[in-house]
Amino acid sequence: MNSRNKSHSLRIGEELLQAQLEAVAESSDTGVVLFDGAGCVQLANRRFGELAGLEREEITGCVSWEELARKMAAHMDAPEEFIGRWRARMRRSGEASWDEIRVDRPAPHRIERFGRPVRNAAGDPIGRLENYREIAPESQTDMRGLQTEKLAGLGQLISGIAHELNNPLTSITGYAQLMISRPLPAPQSADAQRIFQEAERASHIVKNLLLFARDRRPEKRAVDLNEVIDRTLALRNYELRVGNIAVEANLDRDLPLVLADPVQVQQVLLNLVINAEQAIEQSGKEGIIRIRDFRSGDRVHLEISDSGSGIPLENLGRIFDPFFTTKPAGVGTGLGLSLAQQILREHGGQISVESGAGRGAKFTIELPIAGQQKIEQLFPLHEPARVRILPRARQRRRVLVIEDEPTVASLIEDVLAEEGYTAETHLDGREGLDRALHEEFDLVICDLKMPHVDGRTIYHELVRHHSPLQNRMVFVTGDVLASRTMEFLESSGLPYLAKPFQVDDLKAAVARALSEPASEPVAHFRGAARS
Ligand code: ADP
Repeated sequence: MNSRNKSHSLRIGEELLQAQLEAVAESSDTGVVLFDGAGCVQLANRRFGELAGLEREEITGCVSWEELARKMAAHMDAPEEFIGRWRARMRRSGEASWDEIRVDRPAPHRIERFGRPVRNAAGDPIGRLENYREIAPESQTDMRGLQTEKLAGLGQLISGIAHELNNPLTSITGYAQLMISRPLPAPQSADAQRIFQEAERASHIVKNLLLFARDRRPEKRAVDLNEVIDRTLALRNYELRVGNIAVEANLDRDLPLVLADPVQVQQVLLNLVINAEQAIEQSGKEGIIRIRDFRSGDRVHLEISDSGSGIPLENLGRIFDPFFTTKPAGVGTGLGLSLAQQILREHGGQISVESGAGRGAKFTIELPIAGQQKIEQLFPLHEPARVRILPRARQRRRVLVIEDEPTVASLIEDVLAEEGYTAETHLDGREGLDRALHEEFDLVICDLKMPHVDGRTIYHELVRHHSPLQNRMVFVTGDVLASRTMEFLESSGLPYLAKPFQVDDLKAAVARALSEPASEPVAHFRGAARS
């Protein structure tokens, strides 16, 4: 065969192969994109186009990954982030990876992307194959759809106990704070301080329990991620030393604050660090965990990589599934990463992973930066009240307290008395409503969950009777984690305090609610435990 014939038949062979490849790709209900070693698009199937929101011509016209990424990014709110992430991925194209992509337009949806190197017979990477799958809407919102009955039952039990504990904890922390604020002899003041601190600790445990019960909104505030990393490492200090695991932290000390729930973020980090420790232990080799954080655009990135056993290719797309674990019973539950993913989604962030066989794993989390404006929108409670009410004027202010838990009711009454207000308390919602409808008050502080007549009903009755008090309510609730409660509070637009609340938050809430002109609705502000 002469050389012209040879190249001709080679071309025909290539065309045949390409057609066969395309036929295979088209038959898949997964989006498929194949890149060559230089990052050029070799093939992309129709399903990929549907998921990415791209027309067939747009894809076939793409020659490089970058062009493709730019076209996809045009449908996203944070295009540069997405392209940057892809670039990092292509730089390490010899590794398998998993990440989640959020497409915002035309219809918002999430896609998971699973990438792996394509290798020749000698094992050298010659390209990259990416699979794209839509994430079902139910798993986009939360784990409810995936939660087993067992977990749901356990969650209910935990949630019930935790809510029961909130009332006594509110009283203990509240009275301890009242004692601390009074001029007491030093030993008593120190004792009160200790009671307060320990009750705070118990409150934290309750919050952590509720975190597992999951029907909860994150308590977001501006958080220094470096501090959370330091705290997490301090918690694992002993285990890391005993396990002979070195930690190399490369933290950007000028990192901007992130808008996050510090407890949840710590839970995510703790899980990643423990997983890294366990992977190192499993590999039986000397271990190192590398932690790096940096800013990219309006996001903060945190990478945790380890020198452990790595994640086999076939598991990479499954490790975020609830209950997926490769660890023995008693060691692994398979919930850590799925909770981490859930938490990050709730924060508008995300988690992704890369792993090369035998080369450890690298998890990257992203969180949005807390812009000053956003913080103020969310936490105006901590601003000083704009109008100060003078104590003398306060005596004329009448506050109706409706709370069925006697100790919490008397705590609120005592705080109000200390602040100079005149308070009237009712433990029964029916009596409280009756008073609210027939007497003059300046403010109602009302528990949401009560027998007979609850806070919701009281509010609706005040609205029905066109009572001006409908705009002068502060709710108290131990149930802020339930989505039904949140929906009500959000729709009424009224302020609330989450049990166990701080005495200062109660004072601020009352002062703020009363400093508004009577005819206008009370400014919407959030309690301490509000996201
Ligand atoms: P659990 O740790 O209880 O198994 P996770 O959801 O945290 O649950 O992790 C799921 C699985 O992901 C683990 O069982 C393990 O197989 C894998 N995995 C997670 N992190 C790592 C890591 N750093 N290195 C290797 N494998 C990991």
